Amino acid sequence: MSRPRIHILALGGTIATRPDASGVMQMGAGADDLVKAVPLLGTLAEIEAETVSRVGSHSLSFDQIHALAARIAASTAEGVIVTQGTDTLEETAFLLDLLLERDVPVIVTAAMRNPSLTSPDGPGNLLAAVRVACDPWIRDHARSLGVMAVMLDEVYAAADVIKAHPTRLNAFASPQTGPLAALVEDRVVPLSLPVRDAVAATRKRLGKVDGTAQPVALLWMGLDEPGRLIDAMLGASDHLGYRGAVVAAMGGGHIPERLAEVAGRLASAMPAVVSPRAGGGPMLRQTYGGPTSEIGLRKAGLIWGGRLHPLKARVLLETCLRAGLPRAAIAELFDAWG
Ligand code: ASP
Repeated sequence: MSRPRIHILALGGTIATRPDASGVMQMGAGADDLVKAVPLLGTLAEIEAETVSRVGSHSLSFDQIHALAARIAASTAEGVIVTQGTDTLEETAFLLDLLLERDVPVIVTAAMRNPSLTSPDGPGNLLAAVRVACDPWIRDHARSLGVMAVMLDEVYAAADVIKAHPTRLNAFASPQTGPLAALVEDRVVPLSLPVRDAVAATRKRLGKVDGTAQPVALLWMGLDEPGRLIDAMLGASDHLGYRGAVVAAMGGGHIPERLAEVAGRLASAMPAVVSPRAGGGPMLRQTYGGPTSEIGLRKAGLIWGGRLHPLKARVLLETCLRAGLPRAAIAELFDAWG
């Protein structure tokens, strides 16, 4: 049987680290090294390995992911795998999902345990990602699945996957929807197909995204938040360079009442998206009264962010601004997310 051609693009991250002379892990390995460490890959696929960068994913930029998306779009392989760090995987996978529409599987994978530790997960995750990319059900449904993340023998949708623990081996999850598939022995067991109407509507509205970086402030609300940073940003010339804001709100879409005035000013100054700090999930729209509950905030002009995690809402807002969409179009687009 002919083996599918799989293109592996390595960005860096723990999966690509090596200990330096003092034993501290540094970015070192390239795509060839990752592939060489898993001889079984060659039996499953014809592998093309490309080292794109050797950086921790905490230092990746939006521009780098846009450049990566262009590379993936140009790849003629029958499946594409990106290896990177885990720290921002939930954001990069989602951005790739917004930018790419491919009929071949596109998968992001990484490692939680570095290669100097007992039982590092990098080789197993890479093998699992290649298995997923070669699997007939995955290949048949590649377009409906969108960009996927493969970690610890589970397959997740890019819009839903989150890093839910800083260090544990099983750090990744899709709490809202559950995994799309599981790996058992050498099989991929399909579990569900993602609902992609919002992704499709978003992609249609975005069109070609070729603008420059658009900084978006992430404003996480906590008990008794005084809002001084928002005030300082709005008072500064050019709003400190921020073009938009995501307000990670409490519960169903609430912020402290003392912020009513500053929230209104924020909404007039730039597209400001309210997103659930609970970590994703649909928010309320018409239950609670008061100036800083959902009804009041929506009236004040804040954009309702839907079910996306605040980190993903920030990615989506950056992408909308980069695409040059006006506020009304951004509000309409976020509305599709629930
Ligand atoms: N800081 C690393 C990174 O995201 C951590 C990891 O890969 O798990 O690149």
